[in-house]
Amino acid sequence: MRTKVLLLEVDAGDRDLILRWAHEGALPNFQRLLQHGVSGHSMAVPGFYVGAVWPSFYTGVNPARHGIHSLVQLKPGTYEIFRCLTADHLKREPFWNYLSRAGKKVAILDVPLSGISRDLNGIQMVEWGSHDANYGFMTWPPSLADEVKARFGPHPLLDSCNADRRTPGEFQALRDTLVSGVRKKAELTRHYLRQGGWDFFAQVFTESHCVGHQCWHLHDPDHPAHEPEVAAQTGDLMKDVYVAIDTAIGDVLAELGPDTTTIVLAGHGMTTKRGAQFMLHEILIRLKLAAPAEPLQAPTPVDTVDSWLTWGWQHMPQGARQLLKPVRDRLRGWIDEPAGVPAPKLDAANSKCFLVDNHFAVGAIRLNLVGREPSGKVQPGAEADALCAELKRDLLDLRDLNTGKQVISDVVLTRDLYRGDHLDDLPDVLVVWGPDMPLGTAVVGKPGNGKVRLGSTKIDLIEGENRYCRTGEHRPDGLFIASGPGLAPGTLNRTVSILDFAPTITRLLDVDLPDVDGEAIREILERRGGNADGRDTPR
Ligand SMILES: [Zn+2]
Ligand SMILES: [Zn+2]
Repeated sequence: MRTKVLLLEVDAGDRDLILRWAHEGALPNFQRLLQHGVSGHSMAVPGFYVGAVWPSFYTGVNPARHGIHSLVQLKPGTYEIFRCLTADHLKREPFWNYLSRAGKKVAILDVPLSGISRDLNGIQMVEWGSHDANYGFMTWPPSLADEVKARFGPHPLLDSCNADRRTPGEFQALRDTLVSGVRKKAELTRHYLRQGGWDFFAQVFTESHCVGHQCWHLHDPDHPAHEPEVAAQTGDLMKDVYVAIDTAIGDVLAELGPDTTTIVLAGHGMTTKRGAQFMLHEILIRLKLAAPAEPLQAPTPVDTVDSWLTWGWQHMPQGARQLLKPVRDRLRGWIDEPAGVPAPKLDAANSKCFLVDNHFAVGAIRLNLVGREPSGKVQPGAEADALCAELKRDLLDLRDLNTGKQVISDVVLTRDLYRGDHLDDLPDVLVVWGPDMPLGTAVVGKPGNGKVRLGSTKIDLIEGENRYCRTGEHRPDGLFIASGPGLAPGTLNRTVSILDFAPTITRLLDVDLPDVDGEAIREILERRGGNADGRDTPR
């Protein structure tokens, strides 16, 4: 039996780059898919990033219903930050569990932030080669791990893609490692596809995610850390990795017959790193809305990065620390600390509001609400609403003193975006860093180009220096291309949601996925000759 539905995801593969390079002929397989498939824009979950994108994708429900917004979350009813191993805290099941229970045979390979579904009817690999690390390499059935190691070895990128400083040669070496990882992953994918009999088969290329974070400045001449002479030496490393993924997609698709429905998805994208997330705690202190933490040690000069993992670590009992040690060591790569151990930044219990982790493009604030938090300082209702309004006004007032431009483009209440039983697991206020403050980094480019100077009516000047190595940052815009038997080529004239893919895939296999927020994408379900409204004429 041939594979019925294949999903290939290009993790954080940027839509505009894929379309441009496909159009130019550099990505011939994407070009062919775009010509012969039905394609369209997609949108990830507004306000949240990678921590929430994947569980939203594979549950089909919004973050207020599955309860995950980040890899590091606040333990409800405490001020304690904990490493939120996604699958252990997720309030909904991944859609492949429904497929499996309906008797469908599935292969779920390297879907980021997924955990092992025990007793799955099929196979699963978690983090064989993955940008985000939760659990380390695990498989279902467990014996599959040895087979994969013996046949394919480890993914060539053995550690995090982060590095404080890279020479042009080291950037090229990262590219080479990622390209060889893509090739190996294609080989592995083909091997298991050939075993046949899959109702649903999923594989995710996360090498696009790594290269986007690390090499955006070499790709984008407008990036503040772009150095033309270095870029001339390295070439566009992002393009090299995208080309390798395009080739891999072609190789994988060559294994399939004409009766497979294929969905290629780039569920969220990449752009210039922007904003000043690393200064948000100081902004809240200067606005007198949050109290500084008692420093546990003298602040280091590198106290410029998000440090929630460290915060939680320092506040954890010794026994729990021992237990979590191996996990923490693996996490080091992910959590974004170039060096040093920053002190905790805010005294949450003595603040009107405090920060929770939410990646870098959107800051996240939680109100210290009476009745919800252990030492609440703000009454729910009118007082909380007034605080939100004050936050919005004061944050939107912030300017980049180097350019005079507004730095925060929007301040949004989570409750205005999402409804669900687990809304209280999410931050209350989302601070969207605008596009007008692209951020260089002191370690990558010329010294000092990471210097940030902010001010507003209430704050005369806050200065900080971005030391974080990443030069690319996420954006929620995505792209999908579906092709298969009876699917007429075309382009959707609407944007679908990342939540729509779970119900689409289950519907393709005639399995019910109850009570989801996403809607099956009818243009992928309908057959040639059917009603094709909602779709433009084929290109
Ligand atoms: Zn990322
Ligand atoms: Zn990475």
